[in-house]
Amino acid sequence: MIIVMTAGAAPADIDRVVGKVTERGLKVHLSEGRFVTIIGVVGDKKLLQDVPLEAMSGVEKVVAITSGYKLASRQFKPENSVIDVDGVQIGGNKLVVMAGPCAVESREQLLESAAIVKQAGATFLRGGAYKPRTSPYSFQGLEEQGLKFLAEAREATGLKIVTEVVDPQSVAVVAEYADVLQIGARNMQNFQLLKTVGRAGKPVLLKRGIAATIEEWLNAAEYVMNEGNYKVMLCERGIRTFETATRNTLDLSAVAVLKNACHLPIIVDPSHGTGHWKLVRPMARAAVAAGADGLMIEVHPKPDEAMSDGMQSLTPENFTALMTEIDGIAKVMGRNQT
Ligand code: PEP
Ligand code: MN
Repeated sequence: MIIVMTAGAAPADIDRVVGKVTERGLKVHLSEGRFVTIIGVVGDKKLLQDVPLEAMSGVEKVVAITSGYKLASRQFKPENSVIDVDGVQIGGNKLVVMAGPCAVESREQLLESAAIVKQAGATFLRGGAYKPRTSPYSFQGLEEQGLKFLAEAREATGLKIVTEVVDPQSVAVVAEYADVLQIGARNMQNFQLLKTVGRAGKPVLLKRGIAATIEEWLNAAEYVMNEGNYKVMLCERGIRTFETATRNTLDLSAVAVLKNACHLPIIVDPSHGTGHWKLVRPMARAAVAAGADGLMIEVHPKPDEAMSDGMQSLTPENFTALMTEIDGIAKVMGRNQT
């Protein structure tokens, strides 16, 4: 449930309500807006059955939340969340672009990719060191050596690093090198992994599962947040439908749905969302127009030589053109720049 305080409720009233709730063993999440404070209550609300909360001074109303997710919901926190990653804000006025190869393949490939995406205006370098491949015979990633190359690329360019973590055992090592921990589509409902990244405290980019509903996705975010880590961003990367013209069906309506349902930043990945480089630029433009807070784009110095996802990777030229296009759209959308 949420307890909505009256506009300008006295701090002492807020403290009294929080005290009442916590003394019954429930947790509270305070959302202090410009005008009203909302007290989110997490736990078994039966424990509050005999507490006349609505009669307490400063309380406007008590609203039940029926969805499984609460901390992620916009009812709990009406203002957008802005996640700070070492000085780079995600979910704020500036559009954030995360770009780089599907996989870290070699030191040279990664440093070259980093220089390209930095030059074009990206603020994050992406690249998988642990690759969740459909076939066990496909390239599985350079693992810790790949993480070291990512850290070296950060040193060289100042780009922040987002990279995937595939199992609870490797969360600690990935967290040592990465700025943002990526949970891939295949792991969206790996609840042990979600809890472990929640405890790691690093910002998390949670990709939508291949066949996950938005509600399931938000519940996955709730797993991370329930561990006390509120730095979660969601990434729409396409879902599986009957359509075969694209690798996945990029669900841009999810951006609009999520903007209403939750307060977390939303990133769109048109690379995995479409599976074809020719479709990436138009869908990136549409994502920004739909209100996405950022983009994740696969870029490779030589897509035709990529060890994975070359078909959907942009050349340096195409990526640079994309950055110029979305800059214009971002401005129309009221964002100051990319
Ligand atoms: C990726 O971003 O490298 C990736 C594997 O994406 P997804 O989990 O969306 O398939
Ligand atoms: Mn990929």
